[in-house]
Amino acid sequence: MAGCPVYTRVLLKISGESLMGDEPYGLSADAVSRIAHDVKAAHDLGVQVCLVVGGGNIFRGMAAAAGGMERATADYMGMLATVMNALAMQNALEDLGVATRVQSAIPMDTVSEPYIRRRALRHMEKNRVVIFAAGTGNPFFTTDSAAALRASEMGCQALFKGTKVDGVYSADPAREAHAVRYRRLTFMDVLTQDLGVMDHSAISLARENHIPIIVFSIARAGGFPDILQGDGYYTIVD
Ligand code: UDP
Repeated sequence: MAGCPVYTRVLLKISGESLMGDEPYGLSADAVSRIAHDVKAAHDLGVQVCLVVGGGNIFRGMAAAAGGMERATADYMGMLATVMNALAMQNALEDLGVATRVQSAIPMDTVSEPYIRRRALRHMEKNRVVIFAAGTGNPFFTTDSAAALRASEMGCQALFKGTKVDGVYSADPAREAHAVRYRRLTFMDVLTQDLGVMDHSAISLARENHIPIIVFSIARAGGFPDILQGDGYYTIVD
């Protein structure tokens, strides 16, 4: 039924790229604000929302490692980039009157709370949007894995993965006119066909913990709250 949320607690994974909008690097104020409006709309439906933010718009460990930097150091830098994005999301949400807390997996007491699971749960129960920064806190992981991990820890009913397209397609829809969007896929489909929804460790963790992954377009304003109301375009992996 429209207006009645399908889930009551969800995690939204926001990639660094989606915060970049049309900019070549870093943050687009417009993109950050548009995503914040969608998070607020979901929050206004009474859904408890937490966020995991990526950092690829600023720094990617793998790319820096390919250029010769030690991988672990590069990954720590990537995690620091996600903290900047988390603060930008916090700022945009608080501008809209949404209460938030940033929790960082790398303790950074002067800018955020440290990640404490039970405290994060309490914030969510109080309807604060919790923004998880610094990924898992460990190098050699990604923020997709952090999203599956935090969704599991927070007891989320679904993990929303915002991408540039509105789901998983049989081929690249930008190149193949006949590409079709899958409505539903199993975790095994995604793993065995290597469909690139999220990295394998993230998919495995979501699968083990029975958390469906909903792939949708974060570039389309209103997409996130629409799906929460039983509408919209997406592929569900479960
Ligand atoms: N990262 C990491 N451990 C984590 C999460 C992230 O080392 O648990 C680093 C990694 O270098 C990664 C960067 O942070 O390239 C930014 O995260 P990610 O690439 O997942 O961001 P997104 O692609 O979602 O923007």
